[in-house]
Amino acid sequence: MLWILISLFFLWCAYREIRASMVAPPGFDAPRPIYRPYLALVLVLAALFAWPTIHRWHFERFLSAKATELADNHRARVHCNTLFDTMLDPEMLSIGHANPLTGKIGIQKPWCGRLMAYLRHPARASEDELWSLAMFTHESMHVRGEMNEARTECEAVQRNYRAAKLLGVPDEIAKRNALDYYNVLYKHRAMIGGIQNAYYSDQCAPGGAMDEHLSDSTWATRPAGDPGSFTSDTN
Ligand SMILES: [Zn+2]
Repeated sequence: MLWILISLFFLWCAYREIRASMVAPPGFDAPRPIYRPYLALVLVLAALFAWPTIHRWHFERFLSAKATELADNHRARVHCNTLFDTMLDPEMLSIGHANPLTGKIGIQKPWCGRLMAYLRHPARASEDELWSLAMFTHESMHVRGEMNEARTECEAVQRNYRAAKLLGVPDEIAKRNALDYYNVLYKHRAMIGGIQNAYYSDQCAPGGAMDEHLSDSTWATRPAGDPGSFTSDTN
């Protein structure tokens, strides 16, 4: 919001300069011509200061639409917290949180940025970027109505492939990213123990009690003849 206020200040400077060319400013007998370098400078500054906020709003709208789709059309509204929002957030220690009653998803600084980075180069996703995808899917599952953390996380594990594709990641890379998360990061939770145990179940596996048998599940076998390079062999 601070950046938008600074941007509005520069827009006001531009408005004042243009107005002075039409109406005589106080202390002048006649309008004065626009000083073009000054006008160009304040317009550029207005655009530069507005850009981060407008870009974030655009990304939030995009994520809200995709989270709604993942949540089987339960309306989701994603908010990317600024540093200031995060400091005031009672749940600042979790990287994201969701309220199934309101559909609000809050994503802490800097996890929206990490999700943006993931979408720029999904083929070389870092561990944090895979976490950002899984966090987005996980919070969408809360909006879908699930509150138990282990079941929520397992629903997300099975939908990370779908989520990545919805966000625009090419099919094969989306499958690889979703399987990497399941095989490496998800299973690692069991070894860490502690709070991570609440998010893990050994029944979250192909054929396990939590397997929803989704046709596009992260671990689903591709139909025979499909040229994809992945199988359900997730060992
Ligand atoms: Zn959760």
